[in-house]
Amino acid sequence: MNKESKKFLFDLLKTPSPSGFEVPLQKLVKRRMARFADSIESDLHGNLIVALNPKAKRRIMLAGHADQIGFMVKHISADGFIYIGAIGGIDVGVVEGARVTILGKKGEVRGVVGRKPIHLQKPEERKKSSVDLDKLWVDIGNKKKKETESLVTVGDPVTFELSVKELCQNRITSAGLDDKVGLFVAMEALRMCSRSKLNVGLYAVSTIQEEVGLRGATTAAYSVEPEVGIAIDVTHASDTPATAGHKAPRCILGKGPVISKGPNTNPVVGSLLEKVAKKQRIPYQLGPSPKLAGNDARAIQVSRSGVATATIGIPNRYMHTQVEICDLRDLQNSAKLLAEFVKSITARTSFKPV
Ligand SMILES: [Zn+2]
Repeated sequence: MNKESKKFLFDLLKTPSPSGFEVPLQKLVKRRMARFADSIESDLHGNLIVALNPKAKRRIMLAGHADQIGFMVKHISADGFIYIGAIGGIDVGVVEGARVTILGKKGEVRGVVGRKPIHLQKPEERKKSSVDLDKLWVDIGNKKKKETESLVTVGDPVTFELSVKELCQNRITSAGLDDKVGLFVAMEALRMCSRSKLNVGLYAVSTIQEEVGLRGATTAAYSVEPEVGIAIDVTHASDTPATAGHKAPRCILGKGPVISKGPNTNPVVGSLLEKVAKKQRIPYQLGPSPKLAGNDARAIQVSRSGVATATIGIPNRYMHTQVEICDLRDLQNSAKLLAEFVKSITARTSFKPV
């Protein structure tokens, strides 16, 4: 991965974007993509639509969601502690002891989610593993409500402390890899196409509010009105002890993008993606999914009179925790696959299955 692209990825991961609070991230994407795009537009909902060749009649949409799961300040207690609610599918099992950042009115405020020390827990408490988010508190070090209220307001969004660390074997760990890696791949694919003459208009969309119901993709697909819509999102890797013994399809970090198969995937798009991968010698894996995808592809497919959709999955370990892991090579290969897919479309390509 080139240095500049890697910096963009890391900047995305360090920029907070809980669902409904994506503006700083959208601004970052806009700044980065200005020199590659023919047009960049935003909409009333908050999506960012980055386009190449926008005068073309046929349109291809790539969707990566900008939002990440997070929290919101619900209450400040008399002794200055903060109570929070979940934005999206928070895994409460990993919240106690976490470092968090509150996006307060005067800027970021650091805090930790407290926990009763093990020494003070009764034997039955030690055994109990279920956690009630409503009972957890964020400690920012203050002693009084007034002190906390000078920095924090009810309704402020909160994220896990955002940092990205490089691990062995080209792997990185961070909160919010879901789905900043997908957003990154959509934008990288557009960058890779920016010097080519395309037969279609290419729209890389940074969608909002995926984690709370695929809402940005719903409105963006309506306005872009694409013929093909591909969501790029993380997918569960099955190469850790967490999935040992499961009858899940094999999905391995570093073995390439996962091309979806199933009712949420247009068969022509699916087979063209595979054909392109083989021709360009891009490693890929297949992701059979008998159910509808839980990502933006689900909303895009039934937009207006129907869209030819697919999902490119980026293998991800520990989804929705603050220690998600992805492999940088999967990101690069996904972007390359999508760029080559778009370039391969000719005037004669039809995506109608029948
Ligand atoms: Zn996602």
